[in-house]
Amino acid sequence: MAGEPQADCLFCKIAAGEVPATVVRETEQIVAFRDINPQAPTHVLVIPKAHYRDAATLAAAQPQLVADVLREAAEVAAEEKIDATGYRIVFNTGAGAGQTVFHAHAHLLGGRGLEWPPG
Ligand code: 5GP
Ligand code: ZN
Repeated sequence: MAGEPQADCLFCKIAAGEVPATVVRETEQIVAFRDINPQAPTHVLVIPKAHYRDAATLAAAQPQLVADVLREAAEVAAEEKIDATGYRIVFNTGAGAGQTVFHAHAHLLGGRGLEWPPG
């Protein structure tokens, strides 16, 4: 069923606490944890606990959850004190764009200068 945990999904396991992660924020719907291979001083992944393969699938199925992810990303940015200097929220979608984990997630990046356009 849409949104149900997938046995072979790393981020479902992190959401369930079965794989350890450095969690910085958690609500009933989302969990935010530090990326294991950070690309910036703050690099936090914000995920819905429900499983959707990418942001587009999530948005089509549960638009309110997209809003939850974005709101909680902003809360983490404030907690990390990168809200004043600026931050970037990225949803890599598809292997060609660098998506490697097919459970929707927002990258929250900040704490250094961020070039635009990105690579
Ligand atoms: P994607 O490439 O799919 O947009 O992002 C997946 C992210 O998950 C990558 O930035 C990668 O470093 C991170 N990642 C992969 N495995 C783990 C893990 O076991 N724990 C944590 N905290 N992050 C992970
Ligand atoms: Zn999953």
